[in-house]
Amino acid sequence: MFRRLGRFLAALALTATTTVVGVTLTAGAAQADGCYTWGRTLAQGASGEDVRQLQIRVAGYPGYGAVLTLDGAYGPATRSAVIRFQQAYGLPADGIAGPQTFNRLYALQDDDCTPANFSYAELNKCNSDWSGGAVSASTARFNALVSMWKLQAMRHALGDVSIAISSSFRSYACNSAVGGASNSRHLYGDGVDLVGSPSFCRLAQQARYHGFGQILGPGYPDHNDHTHVAAVGGWSAPNCGI
Ligand SMILES: [Zn+2]
Repeated sequence: MFRRLGRFLAALALTATTTVVGVTLTAGAAQADGCYTWGRTLAQGASGEDVRQLQIRVAGYPGYGAVLTLDGAYGPATRSAVIRFQQAYGLPADGIAGPQTFNRLYALQDDDCTPANFSYAELNKCNSDWSGGAVSASTARFNALVSMWKLQAMRHALGDVSIAISSSFRSYACNSAVGGASNSRHLYGDGVDLVGSPSFCRLAQQARYHGFGQILGPGYPDHNDHTHVAAVGGWSAPNCGI
């Protein structure tokens, strides 16, 4: 409740007023969002950390078979991703990230910067600190964050269905315990195993539009009981036409 109210007030502050009558704003509430606040409108040609923060959150909108580069440079691919995001949420699709686009992102993200429908805890059922994988703990955690934003886009495209995750980040110890491949993307934090409904093939097919460079599903060895998605590695789900 307080969080939603905070977002509403923050949105007001961002779009127009500097004071909200009758409400005492704390220092924290002056921020538009508990995670990250953009301070300028962004368009093609812009660069910087604010562009990179935008890229992370539209990483699920690169178009079929593409992966958006998170380089902080607002080029044509970022513009296209912003347009797809705007279209997905019924916003004017001009490819420019301004208050309307930022407000939609604020509404979608939690204070720890994860998208509303996924959490770090869901992506790491292995240990508490993201250590012991193939990359540093901070990199693994970041890779998981990017996968979550891709999954958020995919979830929305599927009609805001809930997507169940059986396994994501794994240390080498956790990976060995479940018999994971020695080069598994789960060791990097971006590999995610999807289960439940929609069907594994429906998930695999939809994933092709949301920035997953690796999709492994039904028909690929050991993937008849889930669909695996990750940042890189190629696609194979022969039973799904992939
Ligand atoms: Zn997997």
